[in-house]
Amino acid sequence: MRILVVEDEPILNGQLVQAITNAGHTVESAHDGVQAHYLGEVEEFDAVVLDLGLPELDGLTVLRRWRTAGRKMPVLILTARSAWQEKVAGIDAGADDYLAKPFHMEELLARLRALLRRGGEHASAEWQCGPITLDTRQARVLVDGQPLMLTSHEFKLLQLLMQRKGEVLSRTELSERIYAYDSDRDSNTIEVFVGRLRKKLPPGSIETVRGLGYRLMEPGGPDS
Ligand code: CA
Repeated sequence: MRILVVEDEPILNGQLVQAITNAGHTVESAHDGVQAHYLGEVEEFDAVVLDLGLPELDGLTVLRRWRTAGRKMPVLILTARSAWQEKVAGIDAGADDYLAKPFHMEELLARLRALLRRGGEHASAEWQCGPITLDTRQARVLVDGQPLMLTSHEFKLLQLLMQRKGEVLSRTELSERIYAYDSDRDSNTIEVFVGRLRKKLPPGSIETVRGLGYRLMEPGGPDS
């Protein structure tokens, strides 16, 4: 499973990553709220361990933004021991469970296992846009039920467009999100990827909005 660990204390962050990796999962980690929000929005995780006291953007705000944007992954929040208000606010913001600091790593792993079991039962992993189906968990795309072969960049691009279908996404935004970890960011290459992706999708799926960017349209939809 893919787990996101968000914790600003470097030692605790490292311990969490180590323990969850040892439990057999793939772990991404973030050290501040902005980075955490970004990762949780554009990547798929089976669960998130989220500290509430974070620099840049606090954990509650991060969680609220994910939930508002329809992100449904299970989230376990880490709270200060005495702050019961934090727990209440966290549950209200959409947390699935909480653990007060300091905690035993074994307990955290047990809570995480429980969350992953629950998450697996009702996580919807399929997004639909007309004849296009994107399965976020299996990283698979179908058009009219037929599998479509995409490169990882093309897949990411389609995922971003589907996540916000009907909305215009600028070349800059797309390149920032696709190349988050690449040093050679170049918004011109987005045009190339869009061109390739467009050839693989049903005609009219990706619309170019001159001077603004691209948007994904449902073929035959009201605006196409
Ligand atoms: Ca903290």
